[in-house]
Amino acid sequence: MDIKPENPWQGTPDISARIVVAIARIASVLRAGVWEAATAENLNPAQAEILQLLRDRTQGVRLSWLAAQLSVSAASASDSVAALVAKGLVRKARAEDDGRASALWLTDKGKALAARMAQAVGFADDAAARLPGDDQAALLVGLFKLIAQLQKSERFPALRACLSCRYFEPNVFPGSAAPHHCALVKAPLPITFLRIDCAEHVPADPVAERRNWDAFA
Ligand code: SF4
Repeated sequence: MDIKPENPWQGTPDISARIVVAIARIASVLRAGVWEAATAENLNPAQAEILQLLRDRTQGVRLSWLAAQLSVSAASASDSVAALVAKGLVRKARAEDDGRASALWLTDKGKALAARMAQAVGFADDAAARLPGDDQAALLVGLFKLIAQLQKSERFPALRACLSCRYFEPNVFPGSAAPHHCALVKAPLPITFLRIDCAEHVPADPVAERRNWDAFA
C-alpha cells in the first residue's frame, strides 16, 4: 500500500464499495458451507439452493418463482427440479390456488436434508447472534434498506418479505416501537421482527408493495 503521510487513506474505496465487498465475502463463505454439505449429499449447487428455497413452505412454490430466485431460465430450473423429484426430495402437485398450475413441495426426506444443510451454515447464525442486540437490529434494518434500494433497480428477485405481503399494514401505530401491523397474526409488528422470507407470505398488489419498499428505502 502506497501510504502518503499527507493523505494516508486517499486510496480507500468508498464505504458503499466496502459494504458490497463485505456482503459478497459473507455470501461466498455461506455458499461454500452449503455446497460442502450439498456435495456430501450428491447434490449440485442449484439443487442445494432449491432445497433451501423450498424449506419451511406451507404453500407450494411455483417453478417460475424458483427460476427468478436462482436467476436462471425456467428450463434450467425445471432440470434441477426434475433431478430432485427423481431423488425423492421434492414432490410436484397441483397448486392450491390454481388447479391448472403445478407447485413444488419438499418431501419428508427433502425436509430432513434441507435441515441438515441449514445446520452447515449455523456458524454464521451463531456469529450474528453474538453481536449486541442493538447491532443486530441496526444491521437488519440496514440490510432491509439496501434491499429496498436494490428493488428500485429491478435487479432483485421478489422476496416473501413483510414489505411485499398482503397482510402487512404499514404505520398503523406511527411513532411507536412497533409501528406496523400483521393482519394475519393480528399483532403489532416491530421493525426488528420484519421477515425477509415468511412462510405465510401472500403477495401484495404491486402498488402497495412499491409504496412499502419506497417508504422503507
Ligand atoms: S409476518 Fe408474514 S404474514 Fe405477517 S406481514 Fe410479515 S410476511 Fe406477511
